[in-house]
Amino acid sequence: EATLDASFQTLLSWADDFRDIGVRANADTPADAQTASNFAAEGIGLCRTEHMFFEGDRLGVMREMIFAETADDRRAVLDRLLPMQRNDFAELFAIMQGRPVCIRLFDMPLHEFLPYDKAGQRDLAEQLAMPLTAVTDRVQALSEYNPMLGMRGVRQGIAIPEIYEMQARAIFEAVADVAARGLVVQPEIMIPLISAMREVELIKVRVDSVARAVQSEMGVTFAFKLGVMVETPRAALRAQDIVKHASFLSFGTNDLTQMTYGLSRDDAGRFMSTYVQQGVYEEDPFHTLDLDGVGELLAIGAARGRAGRPDVVVSICGEHGGTRAAIGFCRAQGFNYVSCSPFRVPLARLSAAQLALEERLTGREGQASPALQH
Ligand code: PEP
Ligand code: MG
Repeated sequence: EATLDASFQTLLSWADDFRDIGVRANADTPADAQTASNFAAEGIGLCRTEHMFFEGDRLGVMREMIFAETADDRRAVLDRLLPMQRNDFAELFAIMQGRPVCIRLFDMPLHEFLPYDKAGQRDLAEQLAMPLTAVTDRVQALSEYNPMLGMRGVRQGIAIPEIYEMQARAIFEAVADVAARGLVVQPEIMIPLISAMREVELIKVRVDSVARAVQSEMGVTFAFKLGVMVETPRAALRAQDIVKHASFLSFGTNDLTQMTYGLSRDDAGRFMSTYVQQGVYEEDPFHTLDLDGVGELLAIGAARGRAGRPDVVVSICGEHGGTRAAIGFCRAQGFNYVSCSPFRVPLARLSAAQLALEERLTGREGQASPALQH
């Protein structure tokens, strides 16, 4: 957990008087959330939940779940993760009390939970008291040619709904627990890797039904928001439909850059320096938001989302979110907030204030995009 010295805090509080775009933090752990809070982030804009499935003996539970035969068996195994996830979320809600916490549902290919080496597979077969062939068959069945374009995000949420159901229950039970301690909780649930309206509808039906169940079991009521990540080009292009079931859109610029360029975010490093040297790309688009291409999709997605639902909340939560150029762009497009790593929050607050002040002094808008007309 990091803190700011008092004079810088004072400077930032002055800057906040000028700032006209929100700044939240991406935070997955209580320590990150505490840093975000110390840096006066206005909420958590992205809590990635994947790492939570690797802690302690949770990996073993996930592996058991992967080998469970039926939905009921999966549910029974996932029930063991429920109290841990409830605690994960309750901690974040308590630290960020009074401010929104946006939790992204599980977004990871299941094969990442299985060992690829023979020794690991033998150990796993022993642990699960299964023949080795059952393990190797499952590894084979789950392996994909293009995992980043495959069974991840909402696709998994639809194919294996028990994981999202467990997470939704954990979130709602945590909301009820923390609210019972007199704290104000503003939960948001975010669905990753959307590309079609029906995906949102299917998940919304399930999440709403879990919310109703928890409310009646615990005798409480609570409000929450459901929204989506826009990280496929199709989600940006169809944002007017997608917002029928989503009250917020948050652009994931890591995947959106990957998919817009058709360029693997994990492999681009191999030739990026050559590309930049030869002037093919001005800069590495994974480091500097590509305003011409990816930015165009951001502008289109925001405009179409608002056309479908005028009060939709629009934000960016990919790695670019804290940079001055991205903040300038998001301001010009009327985004509600940016979300960035907790350590970038102070500079993001300062940049946002500078941009607002610059506009006041020069009467100039930030970088408006031609896509504003869409
Ligand atoms: C993104 O794709 O920009 C994003 C925020 O999600 P992740 O980096 O976890 O894929
Ligand atoms: Mg992503």
